[in-house]
Amino acid sequence: MGKKIKEACGLFGIYNIKGAAEIMYYGLYALQHRGQEACGMATVAAGKFKIIKGNGLIIENFTETNLGLLTGKNGIGHVKYEKANNSEASNIQPFVFKHRCGDFAIAHNGSIVNFREVRGNLENSGRLFQSDSDAELLAHLVVNNLSDDFLSALIASLQQIEGAFAFLIMTADKIYAIRDKHGLRPLSLGQLNGGYVIASETCAFNVIGAAFVRDLIPGEILVFSSEGIESVKYSSFSHHYLCAMEYAYFARPDSNLEGLNVHTFRRNSGKALALEHPAPGDIVVGVPDSSLSAAMGYAEAAGLPYETGLIKNRYIGRTFIQPVRKTREKAVKLKLSTIASVVKGKRVILVDDSIVRGTTCKRIVGLLKDAGATEVHVRIATPQITYPCFYGVDFTTYEEIIGATKTQERIKTAIGADSLEYLSMRSFYQITGRKELCDACFTGKYPTNIYQALKEANKKEKTDEQCI
Ligand code: SF4
Repeated sequence: MGKKIKEACGLFGIYNIKGAAEIMYYGLYALQHRGQEACGMATVAAGKFKIIKGNGLIIENFTETNLGLLTGKNGIGHVKYEKANNSEASNIQPFVFKHRCGDFAIAHNGSIVNFREVRGNLENSGRLFQSDSDAELLAHLVVNNLSDDFLSALIASLQQIEGAFAFLIMTADKIYAIRDKHGLRPLSLGQLNGGYVIASETCAFNVIGAAFVRDLIPGEILVFSSEGIESVKYSSFSHHYLCAMEYAYFARPDSNLEGLNVHTFRRNSGKALALEHPAPGDIVVGVPDSSLSAAMGYAEAAGLPYETGLIKNRYIGRTFIQPVRKTREKAVKLKLSTIASVVKGKRVILVDDSIVRGTTCKRIVGLLKDAGATEVHVRIATPQITYPCFYGVDFTTYEEIIGATKTQERIKTAIGADSLEYLSMRSFYQITGRKELCDACFTGKYPTNIYQALKEANKKEKTDEQCI
């Protein structure tokens, strides 16, 4: 619980707006929660591409001086969470590729599930790769298909890949914004100063004063050019499986996902959780920051005081920015502390958004008990995570998911809680008002083919032996 899931990346694009780099700076700053280990921006002016990127936060990589070097009215930017095996500088985006038909820059969010198969085919035909990035893969495919115009090559390329992704591609005079055909990763369009902005989340629009126009639809390519915006579908697939965890965890509370405000969703999930699973508590405490809205909702529905029992140290990154287990555990210790006077002698209902590994949860329950809480009842505002995610989130094997190998009762014992309950899948859907979501990490029903990935997920069935 707490900060234990990593999600891969945030995107921000800007078309035909003066001072593009400075606006991108603020837009990416607002998306920093989606990735803190690396970032970058590329702009283009008179056919010349400029790029600045590096490890660390936006604030660590960009200054008034170097922003001045990013000239032009068009740009794409990226914030990245590095995968443990993907943390080399060569994977920092955007990438700029040089080609005789015209240079282009590319950035992406998510994960292509047939990456290995497609890359293997390209390598067999003589292509060389300098990163492990999906963005580089798409660039190779586009060039491979480039017998006619760029858009046709892009459509042909997108039809060869499957997964959860959003891409931004910038040529000398156009920007292409792409959302995968399943709609797993969000991407929204906004308008500002006569031009356009595109972002992974609408919170980026609030910061720069852009007006929200609409969300891209699954399988859509928006082409921004001097002739305006053209919408092209690269797939006739008609389902929309937005990632359920975007609502519960990844997105910022001030973002709207497909018309539903994230804070409102979380608050309502807390209310539903209280009705489904009341607990014998004196106070309700949320795990900062992503669970506070759900904790408020729980307290409201339960008629109990909502208290600030946990304080987050705001000067360290998310727990999940630590790519290896050893450093992740250290970061948890630094990150949260209790207000003993609030929790001492109290039966605490602790609300969080999810349990993946259980490490953070155990630590927080321990912190509350050390501070004098007499009981800690854990309530999770999502169903139990039981299956790996292959769509750009960092729990990709059964082994690292406590819910895949332990029963609910065993998890309760492992984290030291007095009781443990999860929100039902039925309520989750009801609160979103949607008929379709990706809920694969709860149900095991993956909306895409998963190719080699599942075979390597080291599937372990839930057995009593493994629960010990
Ligand atoms: S498996 Fe879970 S985390 Fe991954 S995309 Fe689907 S809902 Fe989101």
